Amino acid sequence: MDEIRDPGRPPAVPEPAHAFATFVAFCVVVAAGVFVDRIQITRTGISPAVSTPASTISEPDTVRIVPSIPVPPPDPAIVEEVAGHSVLGQPIPLIRIGSGPAILIMASIHGNESAGTHLVERLRELLLKNLSDFPRDRSVILMPVLNPDGVEAKTRGNAHGVDLNRNFPAENRENSQRYGLTALSEPEALAIYKTIERFQPIRIVTLHEPLRCVDYDGPGLELATAMAEVCPLAVKKLGTRPGSMGAFTGEARHIPTITLELPRDARGLTADELWERYGAAMLTAVTHPLDSAAETDR
Ligand SMILES: [Zn+2]
Repeated sequence: MDEIRDPGRPPAVPEPAHAFATFVAFCVVVAAGVFVDRIQITRTGISPAVSTPASTISEPDTVRIVPSIPVPPPDPAIVEEVAGHSVLGQPIPLIRIGSGPAILIMASIHGNESAGTHLVERLRELLLKNLSDFPRDRSVILMPVLNPDGVEAKTRGNAHGVDLNRNFPAENRENSQRYGLTALSEPEALAIYKTIERFQPIRIVTLHEPLRCVDYDGPGLELATAMAEVCPLAVKKLGTRPGSMGAFTGEARHIPTITLELPRDARGLTADELWERYGAAMLTAVTHPLDSAAETDR
């Protein structure tokens, strides 16, 4: 694994919301003179951002000025629901955090490529633990398991043997037993499609194995580059596959669509090891500025 390098760089951090949250914490420290431990989202989890012993802030008792303490904005909303059901009736979970333009992050559309599910679940844990730092100008929609029947059976396709990532209504779609006789013939693909129609995501990240690169469809080069800068994968354009989700969302809908292709050894890694290597890229998908031309032109 000598090719795996640690970029040694912290992930991009949400700017306006984070700055505001830090400012609020600063105000609380100065106004109340209390010990405040704040947290910030980092690649490895939670770390203290402000840690000021009360003894270092002293004020004469007679000059104590305590204006009204700023009220922090409410935590972002969290909604957990079921986007649909698999062929065998298993739920396809969806977690939405925050409000505003949606960033859709998904894993395990191919049931035998489930390492990405660990990363999406780790991302969810981290975001939920640090809600006060969650960017207020966007929402994140997490779908950790798109193909639950395939994950259970360790198969690429769903219980019908259909490759869900070839079942989308893209121009290059091919009807077949393996890709589905019609577009969206499979309930899992339909659930993903309906989620995209409902939330109109401004960017999409989907996790696969084992082609070890950051691939993109549509106007996704900028985000792909930012994600590659903080993980051991290089940007590589693989080209669109017939009826793939990337062909549909990236090429037809012009949504920046990133395919994070983990390497073959990903399936043997623990969740901790996966997060150590790719967590920063996952956070970059959330925190990368929204003002790229690809997103504002939509
Ligand atoms: Zn795949």
